[in-house]
Amino acid sequence: MSFNMSIKKNLSNIKSYLPEHVTLVAVSKTKPVSDLMEAYNSGQRIFGENKIQEMVEKQELMPKDIEWHMIGHVQRNKVKYMASFVSLIHGVDNFKLLKEINKQALKHDRVINCLLQLKIAEEDSKFGLSSKGIAEIIQSSELEDLKNIKITGLMGMATFTDNKEQLRSEFSYLKEMFDLYKNDISDNFKLETLSMGMSGDYQLAIACGSTMVRVGSSIFGARNYSSQ
Ligand SMILES: *Cc1c(COP(=O)(O)O)cnc(C)c1O
Repeated sequence: MSFNMSIKKNLSNIKSYLPEHVTLVAVSKTKPVSDLMEAYNSGQRIFGENKIQEMVEKQELMPKDIEWHMIGHVQRNKVKYMASFVSLIHGVDNFKLLKEINKQALKHDRVINCLLQLKIAEEDSKFGLSSKGIAEIIQSSELEDLKNIKITGLMGMATFTDNKEQLRSEFSYLKEMFDLYKNDISDNFKLETLSMGMSGDYQLAIACGSTMVRVGSSIFGARNYSSQ
């Protein structure tokens, strides 16, 4: 049972809090298309999903002026399913994946925007590059050959904790990395987006420099995985 009526109210509450330079990604994973349409009809145009198959199914059913963001971990062999329409891939954490995205984007004569995901959380389960890994990608001589991708920012997921000091230090670390590389501009590299902050921590993330927040349960309600 979902409480569709509140989606509009939740969205407007969150938006009233967001500064103008911060983009809201409505994270709709596990939610039915009817819920997404409720958000769409309230003006939301950017949706984030973490499974490619689910995103493809929803994209086919929904209006075509939506920007679809892939926020989950991406398996290389599935890039092809979303290459025709995805507008931003948040979780790029290795060079082989970047090459595959480039290859699939080329087939559709597109340039796909990507964020490099950094590991900022202490949990082992969260994917992402180390500071060394990100430097290797940025300094790779092969990067300039990838004409069909553009690295437009960084993304990170903080530890699942209420500890504000820990969250602040993880977000600040990501912002430091962002600042470190934001003047390294080339044809396919220009950091403009800093994707950090979710329902529980987006206000703190914004205070630490986030320009894009990924908010799910505060818009759509808690997710019920057991009923899937
Ligand atoms: C699910 C998810 C979110 C949204 O989480 P909420 O706590 O529901 O806001 C944000 N980012 C990523 C990468 C996610 O997988």
